[in-house]
Amino acid sequence: MGSVYEIKPTSYGGRGAFATSSIPAGTVVHTSPSPFAHVVYRVFRKEVCAWCWRYAWDDGGKRNWSVKVNCGGKGKERDRARGGLWFCGEECKEEWMKDDEDGLAMEVYEAIDREGAKAMKFKPPADSKPSNSKQDVLSIEEFVPDNLQAEDLTQELLDDIWAKVETTARLYFGEPPSSGKSRGKRKMPIVPLGDEHDIDLARFVASGLISVHRDNHRAPCTSPPSSVATTPPRSPTPSSIESASEPDESSSLPLVSTAEASGSPSASWPGFLSLQPNELSALRSSPNQLSQWIQVYLFLASIFVGHPLHPLILDPSYTCAIFNRDAGNSFGIWQLPYMDESEMFGWGVWVDASYFNHSCSPNLVKKRSGRVFSFLTTRPIEAGEELCISYGNVNDDVITRRKRLWDGWWFWCGCTRCAEDCARSAQGSA
Ligand SMILES: [Zn+2]
Ligand SMILES: [Zn+2]
Repeated sequence: MGSVYEIKPTSYGGRGAFATSSIPAGTVVHTSPSPFAHVVYRVFRKEVCAWCWRYAWDDGGKRNWSVKVNCGGKGKERDRARGGLWFCGEECKEEWMKDDEDGLAMEVYEAIDREGAKAMKFKPPADSKPSNSKQDVLSIEEFVPDNLQAEDLTQELLDDIWAKVETTARLYFGEPPSSGKSRGKRKMPIVPLGDEHDIDLARFVASGLISVHRDNHRAPCTSPPSSVATTPPRSPTPSSIESASEPDESSSLPLVSTAEASGSPSASWPGFLSLQPNELSALRSSPNQLSQWIQVYLFLASIFVGHPLHPLILDPSYTCAIFNRDAGNSFGIWQLPYMDESEMFGWGVWVDASYFNHSCSPNLVKKRSGRVFSFLTTRPIEAGEELCISYGNVNDDVITRRKRLWDGWWFWCGCTRCAEDCARSAQGSA
């Protein structure tokens, strides 16, 4: 309704957004209200508001935000921020709490932080000496073949690996240890984590699973598009944090008209699943990340036994779907206003913002305000023209641009500007 573009197949593969009428410069063609899954890096949590992502340093050089929900209890524990969530003010805290009406996110984040801190202290038993620890440590190594090379990676191999991982997860974490009276003491092993980034990734996945859970329990006033499966296909995959795109955020364009933004009020799971999965491309460019995803999956499976979220965690197709849509579809959450030296606070996936393809001479600019991304035209657009943003910096020469896009997003840019640049350099060297 009121949308000035439509999603349809492009001539070069995949889908894109095409103008259905002419659009003046400075028009907001789309807004994406909130991420389906996101995370603020652990190192930034005290400094970046959990709701609007304002940076404390930008507020008169404050070191940390001070508004939080206290854990309560005694001593040091009392003043700790519950869920590792700090806010720039009471208003943001209230917004966050309203969004987390059922308290699920705060509870889940709190558990990940608490158990994650413990899990980081357990080193995988690499020395293969018998552990003195009272608790068994689950070894991740056994799932992924030694020296996994990019060219060995096939969908079949990934399916195989994940099937084994799931069997292990169901064996150890399938049900609470207390269920069944005389089953003997089934010991639940601890799943070790390597570093803080594993906790960040666990939190990212959890935020997605919470969205799935809420989507499943939402009043069924709208049915999902029938063309889209609501259960993810059984294929695992990766995430690529490095490729989270840099923002455009460049100039402050005048807002000529507010053509109805077509953002849906809240992105749905079917919408998320309709994003392009990039598992093999992402994993082939960085095969050793597979272990990290397995680790994060097992860690979550181990700490939420008996929790309402556990069925979604235990079925790896959900976690895998989040990993493989994260890859190539996520946006970085950057310090604003965006400059070369801006910090990246985290990343997220804004479902219906991902239909805008890349061009090295984009006609859209994306701008973030709080949690909302808006997409504005940078010049007049004709009906039928594809609407494109740029994935990161496009000031480099064509060779550098194409290499960066290939490394980060696994495509060879064939935009008009790249084609012209190549033709020009061919002429020059002729
Ligand atoms: Zn705030
Ligand atoms: Zn290009």
